[in-house]
Amino acid sequence: MSMPTKAFSVLGLPVHVITNYSGWLLERLQQKIGTHVVTLNAEMVMQAERNTTLAKVIQDAELVIPDGAGVVLYLRWQLMQKVQRTPGIELAEALLHELGQKGIDAKVFFYGGAPRVAVKAADFWLEQIPRLDLVGTHSGYHSAEEEQQLRQTLTQVQPQVIFVGLGVPRQELWIAQNRHLCPQSIWIGVGGSFDIWSGTKSRAPTWLGNNNLEWLYRLYQEPWRWRRMLALPKFALKALIYEEGAGSREQGAGKRE
Ligand code: UDP
Repeated sequence: MSMPTKAFSVLGLPVHVITNYSGWLLERLQQKIGTHVVTLNAEMVMQAERNTTLAKVIQDAELVIPDGAGVVLYLRWQLMQKVQRTPGIELAEALLHELGQKGIDAKVFFYGGAPRVAVKAADFWLEQIPRLDLVGTHSGYHSAEEEQQLRQTLTQVQPQVIFVGLGVPRQELWIAQNRHLCPQSIWIGVGGSFDIWSGTKSRAPTWLGNNNLEWLYRLYQEPWRWRRMLALPKFALKALIYEEGAGSREQGAGKRE
C-alpha cells in the first residue's frame, strides 16, 4: 500500500501524490486513525496566502489531494512527471463505492448544502448502495442552537466517515475545530458535492475535466464566480515568481504515518 510519506510543496502548502487515495483512507478507517482530507485547488492556495488559519489547517491535514487543474499543472511542471488530478467529489464517490463493495461496516454522515440537499444526496446514494450505513444528514444553513445539536449528534453517533460540504474555507475551518468530536473518523471537505448528488447542479462533461477545464464549465454555470476565479491567473503568476525566487522546493512530511 502506497503511503503519503512525502508531501510536495505547492507554494508552501503540502500535496500528497499517491496512486490509491481511497485505499489509503480505507486503511486509516479500519485502523481508526482520524484523518482530515483537504482537496486542494488554486483558489484555495490563494485564499491560504491571505488566511493564515486556513494555511495552518491545510498544513496539518493528514491528506491533501491535488483537486484543481492549477495545482496539477504546477506539480507536473515541478516534478516533470504526469500527476493525476483527483477531484474531491470522485474521491468521496470512490470511498462510498468501496465501503459498499467490500462490505465495510462504517457509519457515514453528510453535513452541508441548502435545506434538503444533503437528504436528497443521501437518497441518491442509498439507491445506489442500499447497504450503505448512512446514519444522518444536516443542512449547512442553521442556527447556532441547531449547530450545537449537530455536534451532540456527531459525538453520540461517532460516524466513521463525515463529508462536510460548506464551501472553502468554511468547511476546512469547521472540520479543524470539530474533528475532536469524532477523533477516529475520516473527515472530508466536499465543497458542492451534495449539490451534484442531489441533482441540484451538474458536473462538467468528462472531456472538459480530462483537459483540466472543469473550471470553465463552472464559470459557464455560475458566471458570478468570475471574481473568485481570478485566483487562477493569480496563482499561475505567483507560481512563476515563487519558482524564480526560491527554485524548486520539496517538503518532507515526517509527521505522516
Ligand atoms: N454552503 C453551506 N452553508 C453555508 C455556505 C455554503 O452549506 O453557509 C454550501 C452550499 O450550499 C454549497 C457548498 O456549501 O452546497 C459550497 O459549494 P461550492 O461549490 O461553492 O464549494 P467550493 O467551490 O467553495 O468548494
